[in-house]
Amino acid sequence: MPKKAKPPETLWQTAADEALRWRRGADLSALDEAATPGWAGKRRDGEQLLAARGAELAELQERLFAHGRTGGDRSVLLVLQGLDTAGKGGIVRHVVGMVDPQGVMYRGFGVPTREEQEHGYLWRIRNALPRPGYLGVFDRSHHEQVLVVRVDRLEPVKTWRKHYRELNEFEAEVAASGTLIVKVALFVSPGEQKKRLAERLDRPDKHWKFNPSDIDVRGKLPQYLAAYQELLDRTSTPVAPWYAVPADRKWYARLAVTELLTGALRSLDLGWPPADFDIVAEKARLAAS
Ligand code: AMP
Ligand code: MG
Repeated sequence: MPKKAKPPETLWQTAADEALRWRRGADLSALDEAATPGWAGKRRDGEQLLAARGAELAELQERLFAHGRTGGDRSVLLVLQGLDTAGKGGIVRHVVGMVDPQGVMYRGFGVPTREEQEHGYLWRIRNALPRPGYLGVFDRSHHEQVLVVRVDRLEPVKTWRKHYRELNEFEAEVAASGTLIVKVALFVSPGEQKKRLAERLDRPDKHWKFNPSDIDVRGKLPQYLAAYQELLDRTSTPVAPWYAVPADRKWYARLAVTELLTGALRSLDLGWPPADFDIVAEKARLAAS
């Protein structure tokens, strides 16, 4: 008898949530950016499962949206961090892109504008939080306040050091309001980053993505490593855990984030909201119309 093909989800030998969840004190410098934690399959299996999971993700997101439309207070916030070329944009396109854009509140955070600078750093973040029923996506986030701000010394040490506590308090408050937070940090190796930057320089369709400052960042990788290590250690909390995702293999990072997001939405355990009208009466009215 021919061997039955394994359904690809069984290729997650350890659940993504378990394999990627940051454990305080783990050594970030030991993370292998080319690894595929938890996943025993090949690229092709991963791409196959991604497509299948996409349908599930889309249905779960629609349930969330329906829940929000019928008075529910839950929402989900996906926070994406990572250096340039780590693949944040690809996650948005290929993972978030699988769900109905109506239900997504996407926001990218760059250098604060003049208006934003007139407020505390959480002001623009609060304004972008997902409303009930929405999947919020932050492409960079409040966590830059202890990343680029620290590495580029945009604030004195005494000031940015205080942010860890504020970040945790803020996220606890957001979680208490009904938002399920999933924080993903994408890690690309220096070699792969170089390759991706070279591509941005070689290809006219990628020039728009290139910023000369991206090369300066390469001179600061040890500082970023230290900043990320402390970020993960100090702001991984039960209500807002960090997932450290190796991102040299784009297909793996996309599959892993899809899995994390699907798991998060599933955990909300939302059914379809019941009809708030008399179905039989409406059917009769429709038939008679
Ligand atoms: P990109 O993600 O390529 O659009 O680049 C956004 C840029 O904004 C990056 O260089 C970040 O370091 C920078 N950025 C994001 N948040 C902050 C912040 N709070 N303070 C200073 N720079 C920031
Ligand atoms: Mg950039």
